[in-house]
Amino acid sequence: MDKTDKRERAKERREKRRQEISLIRSIPYSDHQRWWSADTIAVVTGANRGIGFEIAHQLGLHGLTVVLTSRETAVGEEAAKVLQEGGLKVVFHQLDVIDHESINSFCTWIKENYGGIDILINNAGFNHNVGSENSVEFAEKVIATNYFGTKYMVKAAIPLMRRNNAGARIVSVSSRLGRLNGRKNRISNDELRQQLEDVDSLSEDKVDAVVNKFLGQVKDGSWTSGGWPQNNTDYSLSKLAVNAYTRVVARELSGRPEGEKIYINCYCPGWVKTAMTGWAGQVTTEEGADTAIWLSLLPDMRISGKFFAERREIHF
Ligand code: NDP
Repeated sequence: MDKTDKRERAKERREKRRQEISLIRSIPYSDHQRWWSADTIAVVTGANRGIGFEIAHQLGLHGLTVVLTSRETAVGEEAAKVLQEGGLKVVFHQLDVIDHESINSFCTWIKENYGGIDILINNAGFNHNVGSENSVEFAEKVIATNYFGTKYMVKAAIPLMRRNNAGARIVSVSSRLGRLNGRKNRISNDELRQQLEDVDSLSEDKVDAVVNKFLGQVKDGSWTSGGWPQNNTDYSLSKLAVNAYTRVVARELSGRPEGEKIYINCYCPGWVKTAMTGWAGQVTTEEGADTAIWLSLLPDMRISGKFFAERREIHF
């Protein structure tokens, strides 16, 4: 099969899956599947626009209480108002995922007002490049927002996750660009790839060391020969780090007893029409939000430390 045929077949498969999901989505959850209620608290980061806003919207439609957060108060309040006017139970709170003071005051507020969190969606993200651009001018901000911001939020949220028989959930919005073993855009350094692949020996320090090594090379100008992902290098690496960190945390949380379970997973929303892609994506925010909603609400949750796309597990 030549390249064009392969591409056509892949396109057909994607289209078929989109249609399947839109059918599945039209089937409502039954009462015995619905483990959540209006008292279930879902926090969404970077929810003033794009995929985050749509995740907040859909969780609200499912009847949960949604805490829509955003680093800018005015735009966040406005976004929450739109959903409130649609009759949804949505509240706003300021949250900048790379500002420790902001995270601390958010955590104090949520503890005082709701006693904790049932679902955390790490959606906040930043990418400076659009299309095939590959500048690393903003690499620090990209890694800080996408990887460190996600990590700070996971660390802050774990002690706040409420006990519940269905298990508390953390979902991070990641990207296929950060796949370790994707056909395209992989880390070409075999040793480094193997290190990141071995979940038993993986640790937070190792993941930090990888991103810090990259940032060091950005500073001294040697990153182009570092064997890093070739497309959207800083962004791809930040998501690769999110994926690796998800596996580390899942392993750490795996020993928690029944009733205190916390499941953590990540997913790729596809190439979505948002500001981040210059609205050039292939799917709508509604479709891009879908797997986050599915993972947040899965009735018999037993999955942790995995990577998903279009409601299916995919390889890291
Ligand atoms: P947008 O650029 O539309 O939204 C990004 C959101 O993140 C904005 O609300 C932005 O806030 C917020 N944000 C950025 N920095 C911070 C911060 N420090 N603290 C809190 N919020 C912050 O992009 P998308 O909706 O497309 O992206 C959402 C997520 O999906 C990201 O994690 C992205 O990497 C991921 N993703 C997107 C894909 C796509 O095709 N669009 C593909 C794969 C993954 P503000 O408005 O203040 O800038």
